[in-house]
This record gives sequence, structure tokens and C-alpha cells, in this order.
Amino acid sequence: GYLYNIAGWGEPYFVVNSSGNISVMINGVETTSEEAIDLLAAVKKATEGGLQFPIILRFPDVLKHRLDSLHTAFANAIKYTAYTSYYQGVFPVKVNQNRDVVDKLISLGKDYNFGLEAGSKPELLLAMNSLINGSPKAYLVCNGYKDMDYVSLALVSRNFDLNTIIVLELEDEVDTVVAASKKLNIRPVLGIRARLLTTNPGHFGSTSGKHGKFGLLEDQIYAVAETLKENNMLDCLKLLHFHIGSQIPTTSIIGSAVREATGYYCNLVQMGAPMGTLDVGGGLGIDYDGTRSGESDMSVAYGFEEYASTVVQAARLVCNQKAVAHPVLCSESGRALVSHQSILIYDALVAVEEPSDSLTSDELISRLDDLVGNPTTLHANLKSAVRSRDGSNNDASLVHADQLKKHGVEIFKLSRRLAKQLEAAGEKTFAYHMNLSVFSLTPDFWGIKQLFPIMPIHRLQEKPTQKGTLLDLTCDSDGKVDLFIGGAQTLPLHDVKQSGGGYYIGTFLAGAYQEALGNKHNLFGGPNLVQVESAGSAGGFTVAFVGAGPTAANQLQSMHYDPAEMAKVIADRAKETGHWTETEQTLVTKVFGTMPYLFGEL
Ligand code: PLP
Repeated sequence: GYLYNIAGWGEPYFVVNSSGNISVMINGVETTSEEAIDLLAAVKKATEGGLQFPIILRFPDVLKHRLDSLHTAFANAIKYTAYTSYYQGVFPVKVNQNRDVVDKLISLGKDYNFGLEAGSKPELLLAMNSLINGSPKAYLVCNGYKDMDYVSLALVSRNFDLNTIIVLELEDEVDTVVAASKKLNIRPVLGIRARLLTTNPGHFGSTSGKHGKFGLLEDQIYAVAETLKENNMLDCLKLLHFHIGSQIPTTSIIGSAVREATGYYCNLVQMGAPMGTLDVGGGLGIDYDGTRSGESDMSVAYGFEEYASTVVQAARLVCNQKAVAHPVLCSESGRALVSHQSILIYDALVAVEEPSDSLTSDELISRLDDLVGNPTTLHANLKSAVRSRDGSNNDASLVHADQLKKHGVEIFKLSRRLAKQLEAAGEKTFAYHMNLSVFSLTPDFWGIKQLFPIMPIHRLQEKPTQKGTLLDLTCDSDGKVDLFIGGAQTLPLHDVKQSGGGYYIGTFLAGAYQEALGNKHNLFGGPNLVQVESAGSAGGFTVAFVGAGPTAANQLQSMHYDPAEMAKVIADRAKETGHWTETEQTLVTKVFGTMPYLFGEL
């Protein structure tokens, strides 16, 4: 197992057992030998009736352990720092909207008053449906851009005894909320999303900082509070939220963000808003490469304990300085809760030897030498490029820039070929054809080169004899995995023929985002399709509507919900609370039956 660094990223849930298979330790290190699950045995059992690969195996016990560990970490941090309030978190459903995952989190988290975060209309329906069985105190945090229907449904859900909070992401949203609240005669509970100056440097940090996509800058926050005051609604403002992006690499960034946000929180208290909750968003990361370095998007340099104590201490410090009561701390941790609980398993169909490079290493080195060291090419190009730029000759400068680019690309390609050859170091490389679609099952690998730990789940006492890349079944050249944790372009693998049956490989830590991306991010779906045809010699053209984009109900079905059953659950709760008016019925039916995209202006 050391070849795959399973002790680094797998701890405390995945270990290699004495049979050379991976064991899933459902309660982390506290798992007894009876409780440990042999992954190969689980796969064999799952497939004995003829079930096809690929398979996602979910481990709800691991999910429970993650949820409990997060709450224990906050409880301890609160206890040991004399923090005078408590932690009450939510799960951002965009991270994995599957019904069994969401419902499990709500039932397991009932005693923690664990809630949900929604970012679109179908997600709001989903969260309402699940939280009807949750704790009545649990938060239902509504983020994302909102139209009138979204805001109205969020307001109406308060009538159904759900603790829904509408978070204002844009200055204009306050007008929609004020109008909807007056129209429906329902007082909202509101939050504001702050756009912090603290930035998250990783790939996911583009939502953070002054130029981030979401949230309000400090002055805008106070302006929105003023608008609420003018509308006699400042008493509705109870939460400050921020989210500086997923996978925050270090606790020092988390500390700065919480300190900055707590400063705004305290100022809102001093402006007369009741407040009460600080929602620190997502960002609690996963150590995919097992290095704990925090030096790339693949690693974070902390665990639950360090995260919780950083958040608690930062909030406490600023509140104490400003003599403001400690707020309830909420986080929207997604990735950290659900990554470990599911493993994607696929089988190798065949391993085909890759033809070796037609050029020897010496030939490649000599070509590189020519490109890098030849004064008539690189040097001359560089010089004339700079000269043409200084002489402000734009055309010449463009030609030179183009030549330089080609030169660079050629060097890059040759270096990559050489690196591959050196890495193979005399060993043959095999293309393992896997029962897999990279696009559908690990879209983040395809889209943003997110690397996941990948390894065989058995034969781990045998030394792997081959180096392999993984090819999927799609007819696309991108449908392959040829980059692994640590930067290697091949994975040490076993000879498939000797497996006496299947050779099974697992992609680990893939329970967050992977099942929900593709066409389903936030449950927004495909577009409507329209065909435009020329009318021929008569001139003009015709427009025909040929296909409807999926409705919220369609999208929810794809996540294994039954929209009719959901509508009934919501209607039953509404009737219990004496609120199933015609307006409410029409609204719920409309949101189920229309596309999740926003309609009209915000
Ligand atoms: N909250 C908001 C507003 C988000 O956009 C996201 C996802 O990026 C999350 C929470 C979840 O973040 P993470 O998976 O890093 O916990």
C-alpha cells in the first residue's frame, strides 16, 4: 500500500489488511476487526447477482463518523476556549444531492440540529422535503441568485415551520425580498453574504476577494442594513455569511477570513441588527495527496480539530475586543463530510502494451539541446521580439510572439516525452482499458484536473509489475487518466491476466461534487432547444421549439427523488400548519414544473 500512499490520504478510514485487500474502517481508528469491511468482499457480494461495473459503494457509517467528528471538533474547541455559544452546521446539498446521502445526514444529524444549504430552486424543494424530517431548529440556508419564485418559496417555507434563512448575495436582492415579504405578509429571517478581502489562493478561490463573484463588500453590507432599517426590517437580519471557496489550504487563511467577517458581524450588531449567527461557509478541505502540506489544491495542512479551533478562536477574539456576544457558529462544510463515504469501483477489461517512443532518450535530448541552446533560434527570436516591441512595431511583435510560443510548445512537448521515457525507466507502460467513463464519474478530473487517489483494491501483497494509464470506454482522447497524485503519469499496477477474474481499481475520496457535477451542478439542467430554419425562396425563417430543458422535477428525479411524493410531503406539512392556501399551492407546483434557471429579473 505504501506505493499508493494510502497511509497519507486514507487515514483513518482505509488500510491494507492481511489478505492484501483494502479494509474500510467505518469508525476510523476505533473500528473493531469485526466492524472493518473488506472492500473486495463487499464488491464481490454486490456483484454476485450480476450487477455491472462501474459501481459506487457508499458507506453510511463513514458518513456518520465524519459528521460526528466535525461536531466533536467544534464541541471541544468551544469547551476549551470558553466560547459562550455553540456550533450548528448545514450541509450544502450541491456537493451531493443524492437522496440517500442528504436524508442520512439529516437523520444522523437531528440531535445536532444539522441543517441544509440550498443554492437554487430545486435544491430548496429538496431541502424543504428532507428537513421536514429534521430538527425544527435546523437551518435551511438559501444562497445563490434568487428570483421572485425562489424568494417566495423560501418565505412560504417559514409558514411550514422550517427555519429558512434567505441570504442576500446582491444589493438588488433586498428589494425582491422586501416586495415578496410584503406581498405574502411573511417576515423573513435574513442573512447577508459578505465578500471578504481575504482571499483563498487555490483553484477554488476565484469566488473570493474584492473581485469575487458573490457577496457584498463591506460598504454594501451596511447599505443593505440601512435599506432594511428604512423598511422596518432590520430586526429580520440575523446572520452573516461568507464563503471564500472550497479546499482552503491553511488555517491561517481561515483565521483571517473569520476575523474579517466577525468584524463586519460586530458592526452590524452595533447598527442595531439582532444577528446571532456567523456562517463561515465551506472550504474545510481534504488532503487528497496525503502530504498535509497545503501547498497545492490537492492538499490541506489541517484536520477537523485545527479547523474548528481556528474558527472558534478567531470569532471569539474579535467579539471579545468589540464587546459583542459570541454568535452561533455555522459552517457549510460539504467536501469534508461526504468525500470519504463513497468509493468508485471499476474493473479492468484488458491491459495493452503501449508502443515505445520512436525516438531514443539521446535523440530527444539532442533535439531539446537544439531548441534551447541554438542561438539562431531561441536567442535570435527573443532579441528581435523585444526589439520589435520596443520599436512599437505591432505586426512584427505579433509574428515574433507567435514564433516564441511555437518554440515553447515544442520544448514542452519534447520534455514531456523525455520525462515519460525516464519515468518508465526501462519498464513497459500498459494502457488499462477500464469499465469507466471519466466524464460522467469523475468530472472534476476531466474538467479541472482534480486528482483523486486511485489504486487497486486487492492484490496489495503482490508487487505491481507494470506501469499503467487508465483508459475509459468513451471514444474521446480525453477519456483517460494519465496523471496521478504526486504528478506521476502512470500508476503501478498488476498483470490483469493473473487476476483469475476481475482486477478492480478504486477511485477514492470522490463522494463530493463528482455525482452532482456534469449536467447537474446545483441541479440546473440542460437548456431548452430551439431549431431555426430558413423559409427558402420566400425569405425569412421559422423557429421551432424542439425540446424542453429539464424541469426542477426532472432534475430531482435524476437524484432519485420522487417529485410527486415530495410535493405530498410538503403539502401535508403545510396543511398541518394551516397554510395550504391557493397561492402556496400554485407556487410549489410552479417551482416543481419549471426549469431551475431564473425567470425574468432578479
Ligand atoms: N457554501 C457555498 C456557498 C458554496 O458555494 C460551496 C461550494 O463551493 C460550499 C458551501 C461547500 O464548500 P466545501 O465543499 O468546500 O465545504
